[in-house]
Amino acid sequence: MFSRKTEAGRFADRRARMVARQLRRRNILDEEVLAAMGEIPREHFLPRGQRAMAYQDRALPLTGGQTMSQPYMVAAMTEALELSPGQRVLEVGTGSGYQTAILTRLADEVFTIERLPGMAAAARALLRDAECDNVRMRVGDGTLGWPEKAPFDAILVTAAAPAAPPTLEKQLHPDGGRMVIPVGSRRIQQLVRIRRTPAGTTTERLMECAFVPLMGAEGW
Ligand code: SAH
Repeated sequence: MFSRKTEAGRFADRRARMVARQLRRRNILDEEVLAAMGEIPREHFLPRGQRAMAYQDRALPLTGGQTMSQPYMVAAMTEALELSPGQRVLEVGTGSGYQTAILTRLADEVFTIERLPGMAAAARALLRDAECDNVRMRVGDGTLGWPEKAPFDAILVTAAAPAAPPTLEKQLHPDGGRMVIPVGSRRIQQLVRIRRTPAGTTTERLMECAFVPLMGAEGW
């Protein structure tokens, strides 16, 4: 019992340090985002052998060549979504489920789509263990979105697209919906925020990034 407690305590200390050094110091300002990142145990979403690396300042390998994004990137993408209570968010690319768990703390309802069935099953179990109840998951091609649940206040794509999928843009709330998505080549991308308004859409460049490819009908 004693050793388990110290292990959890050690992770909690590292998590607090990660929030201070990797997020606050790099200008993540949204207190709600910082609180969620300080609360969700990142180690829980990693394979057992990799948990010791959970709070390193880097992306981490998952199965099948996929990756769990760097903590800073998770925080920056979440902040860029500008979520407020009562909102509904769609995530494309569940992966480990870590980013999904962060979203459940900031939105009312989270919908998440993963194309790899094994990855989705693992994430589903981990999210249940972490008591993330306001999430619904589907296995399939997320470039086509979740039409029955649209429109979404926010859409987060956590894999790299050649261009923003038009079908996802159409599922944004027409008055102020935001989509955050890495767009570019297979090797390197720009993280952009697309905002939909009745007058049309605007695109802002946020930062350079490198994600695994978004596969599918409106992906690679
Ligand atoms: N946010 C995740 C990132 C996982 S990597 C995390 O931090 O763990 C990107 C994920 O997107 C992979 O699991 C990959 O299988 C998935 N993916 C790629 N194309 C997809 C698509 N068209 N629909 C749904 N998921 C997709």
